[in-house]
Amino acid sequence: MYRLVPFLLCAVALPLAAQSPAELMDDPAVKAALDAARRNEPETLAQQARLCEIPAPPFKEQTRGLEVKRLFEALRLKDVRIDPAGNVIGVRPGKAARPNLVFSAHLDTVFPEGTDVHVKHEGDVMKAPGIGDDCRGLAVLLAIIRALDEGHVETPGTITFVADVGEEGLGDLRGMKQLFFETLKGGIDKFVSIDGTGLGITNTGVGSNRYRVTFRGPGGHSYGAFGLVNPIQAMGRAIARIDAFQVPAQPKTTFNVGRVGGGTSVNAIPFEAWMEVDMRSSDPASLKELDTRFHAALNEAVAEENARWKGGKGTVTVAAELVGMRPAGRTPRDSAIVQTAFAVGRALHIADALREGSTDANVPMNLGIPAITISGGGMGTGAHALTEAFDARDSWRGTERALLLAIALAR
Ligand SMILES: [Zn+2]
Repeated sequence: MYRLVPFLLCAVALPLAAQSPAELMDDPAVKAALDAARRNEPETLAQQARLCEIPAPPFKEQTRGLEVKRLFEALRLKDVRIDPAGNVIGVRPGKAARPNLVFSAHLDTVFPEGTDVHVKHEGDVMKAPGIGDDCRGLAVLLAIIRALDEGHVETPGTITFVADVGEEGLGDLRGMKQLFFETLKGGIDKFVSIDGTGLGITNTGVGSNRYRVTFRGPGGHSYGAFGLVNPIQAMGRAIARIDAFQVPAQPKTTFNVGRVGGGTSVNAIPFEAWMEVDMRSSDPASLKELDTRFHAALNEAVAEENARWKGGKGTVTVAAELVGMRPAGRTPRDSAIVQTAFAVGRALHIADALREGSTDANVPMNLGIPAITISGGGMGTGAHALTEAFDARDSWRGTERALLLAIALAR
């Protein structure tokens, strides 16, 4: 009888790495973890609301980060720490240190300080800015750790959980850049980020270039100094040129003048005007071409304004500062990580489609590290708007999917 044990262990252990997600679901520990995830979903939703009520404006994620650190410690992750960028990191060791799978969700929101983040409950629906993007991801991250623990799941590889900073807006993926270029440099083999709601898989990382453009001139009285060049009017010329850009629909390439400002008074010729511009494409070459045309448009607009008011009445100058650069990248459809995600979907009867987006996974995709972003389940509306809402019906399916994916990839 004693001989049976090593024999059985050997017979079970050897094909582990080759097990499909459907086969993994027959493993008693995995089954127990999946049951726990489903059973704990009401707690997961309560956690989602609690985290959402801790404000996390851009560059001010610290308070929410400290709470996640506390939760990582309570869930007995190892080596729990906060890195110099503010990423919260905790390790769930496997039988071996490698492969090291990173599972992440972002701490930050797009909402400024002072935004009312109190969660309103209406039946299955929770309403609050940030409730889906990305408090859902954070709650699922915590639910995975808890379920793995309750199911006593031992993974062959290690899972490192990360609640990261700087995913949104001008945060410019600074959390991910810190993680991949400093904190865990060379130590990440696979990467999954849980971002937002629904059940999609993002394998294409849309790149973006973001600029803050400043137009400057001498400035003066609107009546007394009439005839001076005008930075706001020069900017208007630039915006008209940008607005006329024709861009390819495939690969999808976009542009947007998102914010403008400048001037001091209705009766003053401004000495300064500024705008913020965002350009995106899933194709690095298209983005580069658009960027070139954008710079040409700025120079043409300034030349035109200076020619309009020629005669020694000063000149307008323009300076474009790159305030955001998100690298583009793609994890191929036939890669192991995408195929594993599809297999997990099939095992759980989830029909997933591949998407493109600009997420934390852009950074590893650009580095050629297998990476995808998955949605956290439930149904969200109004992401990035004050009216954001999360419909929790069947949200457990998102938790279950993320959990089985973590187990399937941590080997
Ligand atoms: Zn997000």
